[in-house]
Amino acid sequence: MLFGLMQDVPLMIASLIDYAARYHGQREIVSRSVEGPIHRYTYAEAEARSKQLANALIRLGVKPGERVGSLAWNTWRHFELFYGVSGHGAVLHTVNPRLFAEQIVYIINHAEDRFVFLDLSFVPLVEGIADRLGGVEGYVILTDTSHMPQTSLKNAMCYETLIERERADYVWPRFDERAASSLCYTSGTTGNPKGVLYSHRSTLLHAMAACQNSAMALSAHDCIMPIAPMYHGNAWSLPYLAPMTGCKLVLPGPKMDGASIEELINAERVTFSVAVPTVFTMLLDHLDKTRRAVPSMERVAIGGSAVPDSMIKQFREKYDVTVVQIWGMTETSPLGTMATATPEVDALSETARRAVLAKQGRVQFGLELKIIGQDGTSVPRDGVTFGDMWVRSVWAAAGYFKGDGGSRLDSDGFFPTGDVATLDEHGYMRITDRTKDVIKSGGEWISSIDLENAAVSHEDVKQAAVIGVRHPKWEERPLLVVVRKEGRTPTKAAILDHLRARVAKWWLPDDVVFVDEIPLTATGKIQKSRLREMFGDYRLPES
Ligand code: ADP
Repeated sequence: MLFGLMQDVPLMIASLIDYAARYHGQREIVSRSVEGPIHRYTYAEAEARSKQLANALIRLGVKPGERVGSLAWNTWRHFELFYGVSGHGAVLHTVNPRLFAEQIVYIINHAEDRFVFLDLSFVPLVEGIADRLGGVEGYVILTDTSHMPQTSLKNAMCYETLIERERADYVWPRFDERAASSLCYTSGTTGNPKGVLYSHRSTLLHAMAACQNSAMALSAHDCIMPIAPMYHGNAWSLPYLAPMTGCKLVLPGPKMDGASIEELINAERVTFSVAVPTVFTMLLDHLDKTRRAVPSMERVAIGGSAVPDSMIKQFREKYDVTVVQIWGMTETSPLGTMATATPEVDALSETARRAVLAKQGRVQFGLELKIIGQDGTSVPRDGVTFGDMWVRSVWAAAGYFKGDGGSRLDSDGFFPTGDVATLDEHGYMRITDRTKDVIKSGGEWISSIDLENAAVSHEDVKQAAVIGVRHPKWEERPLLVVVRKEGRTPTKAAILDHLRARVAKWWLPDDVVFVDEIPLTATGKIQKSRLREMFGDYRLPES
């Protein structure tokens, strides 16, 4: 082997903030604070404070590789944790505060967090579980002295007091780029949550790929707002992409309702944002009701669950915003595919082009994908045949923290995504279901996602979920659960008529039930497991 003679510089997360402070030093980071007011400062200040934080961690005795927990919204202080903790060589464990209390106890103990940094909003939550968090040595409340609450938390410290006495002359250390940098647990719809442990190398390579033109296409001219929380797949990498590209960064804090989001978009002239569909449903509802618009917004990347066609259309036709669908998972850092166009797709008829771009996305360089059909071989690239999807990438997980779930890779090094998908001739992937949600009817598969999409395209339907329920003859048949729009009263027959024009006859749900609310998971997705429990004994009407 003849080795190249190029410099062997480790890929370090701190190099991002170092770069932004030097070369985009005056660009702003604007946050809605948990205390209320809007906070603004620059990358130069963010770097200085991240260094003060790193010095504070040393004073607290946190060593490289040790875990530091956070229970926090998207704000500048959480952003500083991304750099201060990982930059120092410790591991930032972003905890999803929407998990059940028992799950939070489980993951903080499993991760062995030595300190937990938390927003004011989560003080009561953590006080309620602190007696079960024996390994945590202290709690740092992400606020200033004037807002510091009375708390029963042991060794409670005020973040601003903690860092203000530290110097900002810390030198970011260089170490092995494969060192762990952050830890994020998947919500674990079945069993205990499992930890995905990212490295400096995986984070940087993922960020480089994610800001390419074929993906998020970001530059210093953009103003970007991650509404996706920093505890959910690192806010889809935006806290890393922003300093890498010099974008202005807007952080929505605890308020993710339509009015608060719209206010920030217009005040700061946000051009690009990312979130799950539920968040954008709230924004669109708000815009609709108030007849307001978001003229600065150019693109939104939506993923985490399937984006309804009606959402893409509404954004395009009413607000001149392009929706780019994204598919990914905590285990893929999270970028997997993105539905950006190619010359071949742009040359299609407008209807065909839109149909391709409504899919979950195109494979991006750096992440390989294979879809294995029921016969054990790769499905043809026909956009129709579906199978189980596997991925291989330098930014995809090989397994879970502490070996949970055992080795996950197949003999070729591919990771099972748990998704069922098709791939078309243009390289676009479409998720037809999660392996465990697909409805198996008479030996054939029915896609719950396709049915849900068809149902929400009905003008009176606000939200829809489809689950399989037992059937004596067909094994399973689809049941459609619907939340109606306010003030609307569509009938079962009207909804079935609407579907009849859109799906194969044998896919038609056997029944439609109306509910006030569909249960969501901690990451805003339809909680199918809970729905299956709710309708466990459901008897379909005789046909
Ligand atoms: P959690 O289940 O904790 O929310 P993830 O965010 O990692 O964890 O979930 C990843 C899963 O979300 C994927 O495997 C896939 O099933 C689903 N998903 C992500 N993006 C999309 C999308 N655009 N369309 C449909 N499903 C999606």
